[in-house]
Amino acid sequence: MMRRKNGNKRYFTRMGTRKKVHTFVRVKPTDDFAHEMIKYGDDNKSIDIHLKKDTRRGVVNNQQTDWSFKLDGVLHNASQDLVYETVAKDVVAQALDGYNGTIMCYGQTGAGKTYTMTGTTENYKHRGILPRALQQVFRMIEERPTHAITVRVSYLEIYNESLFDLLSTLPYVGPSVTPMTIVENPQGVFIKGLSVHLTSQEEDAFSLLFEGETNRIIASHTMNKNSSRSHCIFTIYVEAHSRTLSDEKYITSKINLVDLAGSERLGKSGSEGRVLKEATYINKSLSFLEQAIVALGDQKREHIPFRQCKLTHALKDSLGGNCNMVLLTNIYGEAAQLEETLSSLRFASRMKLVTTEPAINEKYDAERMVKNLEKELALLKQELAIHDSLANRTLVNYDPMDEIQIAEINSQVRRYLEGTLDEIDIINLRQIQEVFNQFRVVLSQQEQEVESALRRKYTLIDKNDFAAISAVQKAGLVDVDGHLVGEPDGQGFGLGVTPFSAKPGKKSKSKKTFKEQLSSSARKEGASSPVSGKELDVSTSKTQLTPSSKEGDVKDMTIRERETSSIEPLPSDSPKEELRPPRPSTPPPKPVAFEDFKNERGSEINRIFKENKSILNERRKRASETTQRINAIKREMDVTKEALNFQKSLREKQGEYENKGLMIIDEEEFLLILKLKDLKKQYRTEYQDLRDLRAEIQYCQHLVDQCRHRLLTEFDIWYNESFFIPEDLQVALKPGGSIRPGMVPVSRIMSLGEDAQDKFSQLQQVLLPEGPDSVAFYNAKVKTEQKHNYLKTMMGLQQAHRK
Ligand code: ADP
Ligand code: MG
Repeated sequence: MMRRKNGNKRYFTRMGTRKKVHTFVRVKPTDDFAHEMIKYGDDNKSIDIHLKKDTRRGVVNNQQTDWSFKLDGVLHNASQDLVYETVAKDVVAQALDGYNGTIMCYGQTGAGKTYTMTGTTENYKHRGILPRALQQVFRMIEERPTHAITVRVSYLEIYNESLFDLLSTLPYVGPSVTPMTIVENPQGVFIKGLSVHLTSQEEDAFSLLFEGETNRIIASHTMNKNSSRSHCIFTIYVEAHSRTLSDEKYITSKINLVDLAGSERLGKSGSEGRVLKEATYINKSLSFLEQAIVALGDQKREHIPFRQCKLTHALKDSLGGNCNMVLLTNIYGEAAQLEETLSSLRFASRMKLVTTEPAINEKYDAERMVKNLEKELALLKQELAIHDSLANRTLVNYDPMDEIQIAEINSQVRRYLEGTLDEIDIINLRQIQEVFNQFRVVLSQQEQEVESALRRKYTLIDKNDFAAISAVQKAGLVDVDGHLVGEPDGQGFGLGVTPFSAKPGKKSKSKKTFKEQLSSSARKEGASSPVSGKELDVSTSKTQLTPSSKEGDVKDMTIRERETSSIEPLPSDSPKEELRPPRPSTPPPKPVAFEDFKNERGSEINRIFKENKSILNERRKRASETTQRINAIKREMDVTKEALNFQKSLREKQGEYENKGLMIIDEEEFLLILKLKDLKKQYRTEYQDLRDLRAEIQYCQHLVDQCRHRLLTEFDIWYNESFFIPEDLQVALKPGGSIRPGMVPVSRIMSLGEDAQDKFSQLQQVLLPEGPDSVAFYNAKVKTEQKHNYLKTMMGLQQAHRK
């Protein structure tokens, strides 16, 4: 922090993980150290500069002469070794734990930046931060056998705003892009076209470093550039994967070692040509660096101007941010350089304001992750299987659902929505999700159906489209409220819902009795048709069910019914010319429609059904009474037999009388014998009755089943016809038409309980899935026909035109 000696400016250090940039000053050894002007604090963490007024030419009296700079350390006469320990060691160590690090040397030319960063290549002892950092990295890798760590390096030079690859002379397999460009992606900033070299050992790394240094020197000669005018960035990239395969996390980091161009201000000495150009570039890029640093130091600033020059752009993710950052300012100790020294120290103190938030660069190895997840999945599946078998749920399948299972869920959802299914059993999470999914599917289908039904029937006008509404009003089609003229019930035009009382089938002609229908169909089909015979059997069943009917008759009937049930035709009941009331826009729920059907079009068959059922019940009741009587007779017979046996034994004990070979018995015994005889006769009669009754019941049961089947079948046809089949298709559905509507297969009608309510709930379960499926079929059919008709017409027109 730069402050005036007597200043009292306060600054804040943010708590938490934020960290200040570490700033150090290295003073170049000299015999001519300006002791009066440069003083170090006792803790060696500050530098005080004192300027004698008279040493400055043209300086006015009130100008500042004293400065104090707080730093993290002053390195005076420090060895390369100590410099590395103080400045770089921690940064490099943390890079192996995944933290990015940046070390920059700043200062005027000749102050020792390159000496500090690279050192002398001839003398090992004088080697700089670069070779030492490489050494430390490889030492640490050796100490971490648990990790597979790779090291790569690159060496970039920025000269007059151009990028140079100092390692381009080495073989390198990778994209060569010229000119190199700075690219940003979510992972950070990288230089496209800059070669990055894998190094597996210290020695290789050194070779790379030397190669770079050599190229730097050669380039300065061949391209006539002053090496102190360029910025050099040596980057060490580290990537560490755990050798434990299950660990899918890995860390990456990079250490940027930056040797900046000389910071001296050249403008005033009147440089020309190349020197001026260089100076402009250097001054610019360093002042942009300074701007970026000022912005980074100002925590209210959101935008940091990184892209103003190549240097700051290339270092974008290495300045501030999540890096460990160190600035080493190289200064001269001589009085003659004090002005530049002061300027360098100002830069350092500004840098000190910058805070960073070092964070580990943790990444995930996608391949390992997939493998681990697969393992985990297999394990969890096993776990589930065990869990299920303990809970007796052995049949639960957790695999993704196939089309059939999804279709089944779709059907469940439909039944649930229609009210025919009380609840959908929860099986597993996947199934629950699919249920919700199918809810959405069904909902959107229904919306479409409703809309297309409306569009078929009405011309829809937007309620906000006043022009259209007034046009319709002018035409006299609607009144001011938008009601259809002449429509008393106030149904809005376009969206009117036909009242259900006007549903199809409610018409005088359909009141034709079932018997009439049957006899008409019998006439059509011919009297010898087995169908007509069967239908008549049903209609006249009441007379057939007299108690006197013979068992043989019953059997014949039953067989005949079985033979004919599969070819049962539709009774024709809707003549073509008949005017149908408008179809409701949404089909009524099946239970409601069924009640209606029973009272109207299906009333006759329903009546017969009910009659047969009551006969059946009456026969059952009688059979049960007869059984009770038989049991009573049997009990009495047993008692009588016992009494008779007692009399017999009594007689035998008392001595028997015999008259002409005939046994003489007393009156009591005789009466018992008569009684037993009578009981036996009664028993036989009752038993015969019961047998007859059973036959009747069996037959009657069959009739009831037939009637029920018929009722359901007719209902289903009527329901589809009335609410699903487009009207123009109705023609095709008439007897003799090309299409037979989907009849419910007999096999799908399950045996129903006698109670009307629960019988009905079962009926719904069987019938409902059939309905909506047929819609798509019929729609497709109509569309295909329309298309063909259109094509035919067009072809006809074309032919006519040619003629
Ligand atoms: P810069 O890179 O800042 O322009 P250099 O690192 O090239 O400066 O230093 C200029 C000269 O000073 C070099 O010959 C270098 O060896 C020498 N030098 C710089 N710093 C030191 C030091 N701390 N100890 C010994 N020699 C140094
Ligand atoms: Mg240098």
